[in-house]
Amino acid sequence: MAEVRDVVQLGDPVLREVARPIADFEDEGMQRLIDELMVTLRQSNGVGIAAPQVAVPYRLLIVASRPNARYPHAPEMEPTVMLNPRWEAVTEERVKDWEGCLSVPGIRGLVPRYREIRVEYCDRTGHLQQQVLTDFVARIFQHEFDHLEGLVFLDRVESSQELMSEQEYLKRVV
Ligand code: ZN
Repeated sequence: MAEVRDVVQLGDPVLREVARPIADFEDEGMQRLIDELMVTLRQSNGVGIAAPQVAVPYRLLIVASRPNARYPHAPEMEPTVMLNPRWEAVTEERVKDWEGCLSVPGIRGLVPRYREIRVEYCDRTGHLQQQVLTDFVARIFQHEFDHLEGLVFLDRVESSQELMSEQEYLKRVV
């Protein structure tokens, strides 16, 4: 059974590091880390997680949208593990929507993100995959990818007036 890992919070310098590329996909420690990220994500009602959030600065993220207490309207999808991901916008169109983060507890912010993106990544067996992501799932990916660059969603919020406590968010927005 994979262990639930502690999620580091804003202020921990690991969240500000640029994460390192993964060279050995079959490494036992890497495969264990993927399993641990999966159970940590599920246990914390997240829809995505990046390895730096458990203090491991490697280029690994999981996108796993599904409805839960923190995101009641999230679409359901198979959790997707992405190693060494890259992406580009398909169109210039950006939309603002509310985001939260397991590493920034209690706060939501309005963040502009590209609506449609093309992503390329290695799956956990090392095979190259390509996908087009849209809307909420594209938003999750861009949020998690930012963690690999040492950024958090607060860095993308355009005004402090577009921040809200989690409690008010759940009362007013959901
Ligand atoms: Zn986050």
